[in-house]
Amino acid sequence: MTTIKATCPMCGDVDLTPADVRLTVAEAAGWATYTFKCVSCQDLIEKAADNEVVALLSSAGVLIDNVPDEVLEAHHGRPISYDDVLDLALWLETHDIIVPHFVAH
Ligand SMILES: [Zn+2]
Repeated sequence: MTTIKATCPMCGDVDLTPADVRLTVAEAAGWATYTFKCVSCQDLIEKAADNEVVALLSSAGVLIDNVPDEVLEAHHGRPISYDDVLDLALWLETHDIIVPHFVAH
């Protein structure tokens, strides 16, 4: 099994397996991080990962969690509430054709 050497700020170099490392990539936002739980002090360590580190960890067998672009979209207005969902459900009971009501003018 591949051994990955990482550095804990408290303990120094630690040996990890690919399963110990979580690699998160937000390609649209241009950042990536990797996290691991230090095998010595049990702290959760998170570090930035440049393209070279992403390629290295990936080739070592670390699975990549891709952040969906939708997560990084800017949102405006208040979040929808339970009442909004109920209003939509009631509205849908009396409307058969939905699309014309939601097409932008
Ligand atoms: Zn540590």
